[in-house]
Amino acid sequence: MSELSQQTLVLTPEQAYHMAEQYRVVKRSIDARQRQLKVNLTLLLDENGHPLPKDAPIGTPCEQSSVGAPPPLYTPPVFQDVHNAPRHVHIIGAGPAGLFAALTLIEHGIKPIIYERGKEVSERKRDIAQLNRNVSLNAESNYCFGEGGAGTFSDGKLFSRSKKRGNMQRVMELFHYFGAPDTVLYETHAHIGSDKLPGIIRAMRECIIAHGGEIHFDTKIESLTQISNLQSSIFNLPSPIILAIGHSAHDTYRMLAQEGVALQTKGFAMGVRVEHPQALINRLMYHTTDVSYVGNASYSLVTQVDGRGVYSFCMCPGGHMVPATSSTDACVVNGMSASHRNSPYANSGIVVQINPEDIPAISNLQSPISDPLAGLHAQELVENLAFIHGGAPAIAPAQRLADFVRGKRSADLPACSYLPGTRSSALHEWMPPFIAERLRQGFRDFDRKYPGFLTNDALILATESRSSSAVRIPRDPDTLQSLSHPNLYPCGEGAGYAGGITSSALDGINAALHIAAL
Ligand SMILES: Cc1cc2nc3c(=O)[nH]c(=O)nc-3n(C[C@H](O)[C@H](O)[C@H](O)COP(=O)(O)OP(=O)(O)OC[C@H]3O[C@@H](n4cnc5c(N)ncnc54)[C@H](O)[C@@H]3O)c2cc1C
Repeated sequence: MSELSQQTLVLTPEQAYHMAEQYRVVKRSIDARQRQLKVNLTLLLDENGHPLPKDAPIGTPCEQSSVGAPPPLYTPPVFQDVHNAPRHVHIIGAGPAGLFAALTLIEHGIKPIIYERGKEVSERKRDIAQLNRNVSLNAESNYCFGEGGAGTFSDGKLFSRSKKRGNMQRVMELFHYFGAPDTVLYETHAHIGSDKLPGIIRAMRECIIAHGGEIHFDTKIESLTQISNLQSSIFNLPSPIILAIGHSAHDTYRMLAQEGVALQTKGFAMGVRVEHPQALINRLMYHTTDVSYVGNASYSLVTQVDGRGVYSFCMCPGGHMVPATSSTDACVVNGMSASHRNSPYANSGIVVQINPEDIPAISNLQSPISDPLAGLHAQELVENLAFIHGGAPAIAPAQRLADFVRGKRSADLPACSYLPGTRSSALHEWMPPFIAERLRQGFRDFDRKYPGFLTNDALILATESRSSSAVRIPRDPDTLQSLSHPNLYPCGEGAGYAGGITSSALDGINAALHIAAL
């Protein structure tokens, strides 16, 4: 591969689309700064400087890669048989952090034993369908809990390519190996889609089990000592535990606090989810409604209000807003989209940065900041307010965007993508002013940048409260072990060291590599 080179071309969307159909692309990004949309396409060239055809056989062919995909440009993983491996590691949580940790352990000849409170992905789908119909919430099987964790029914945006934390490209390669499209290998803003993610997660599980790992579904760890009771008799030696619980398991954080595991309050963010007609966002971002060669537009917005950041989070072009609660007295919303991103709606979280010292302003001093779980209490308070104003478990309180900013109750609500249903509510009256006032100013700022963004054709839903963990489980930077409990490896989003699918997956890989190196 050393004789290959790269060339970046600046093309019209149509030219880029046809080039990508024919040639091997290593990077693609959209430049919407000028009125005329451009696509930067980086192609791989052969030793004579000619673009390589899309299906050119380069690199090591990977037999188990997605069917029909061209041979990937990476070394495929080699999984060992760990049925009778001398070492084993317990993993709590089968989200991206837990699954990638398990795969990495298997690559190093160590047997992973995963405990997951939720169900496997196909059963989980049924529970999610019930929730979307507002029939029932299964507190252990929902958008947050179950095989694949919060990542399974997400948009599957794989944004973070930061090299700071480790080999992010390896995360993309593993996703590709288990069936993600080629674009994850080169797109700057790659995404997989909630229709494809379950299949990829299932393929990971099948690989883990086929090589001798174990996955125990419907198994909530309610005490760290429970693991020694669960392990089979051959495993009677103390073994490392990877704690990959995500940030929605508030009960598990409370269990850890009770068991004396070191915890810290951490800055987080809360706000609302906003949904616009996608055609409007296409016009604002791409200056056109014809997006046939580039797909629906997304955005990334940020401003400062009164010393705190107000920003867009997890923007889902052509997506759906979803009920992301795991408890019966909370209303939490989030967003996702299918691989084609073709719903007529564009949604995004718009959240306000909350530092630990801001928590009393939100929770009316109900929780002292010295309490490491103070941030959880603040989240729960706002989520419960949203639940009360929604009036039923998954019904979300909603308001037209311009009405919210003007401080006016909405007489009616526009159609939207949120399936369980919405109820008109004066969010500006009951959301903590610390959040509501900054959101209102933030929306005005966004409208200055993109005139038309602040419109009554857009809708906001409460509450977007799970954009990041409100708790950190501090760990030694060299060993990655808990400061209070050696042999306990807190990792992923719930440990407060990662945010999003890729960085959580990478954190899981890093925990596994540390254990493998012992
Ligand atoms: C609707 C939605 C859309 C999202 N979209 C995106 C996106 O497009 N891009 C992106 O990067 N991120 C997205 N996210 C966030 C992303 O899913 C998370 O950052 C990521 O999944 C975190 O990975 P994790 O492995 O650390 O934790 P999680 O994925 O939260 O997994 C933790 C797992 O641990 C299990 N668990 C918890 N406690 C216990 C216990 N006591 N015993 C046993 N099991 C337990 C849970 O059931 C869960 O399955 C989205 C999240 C949601 C909810």
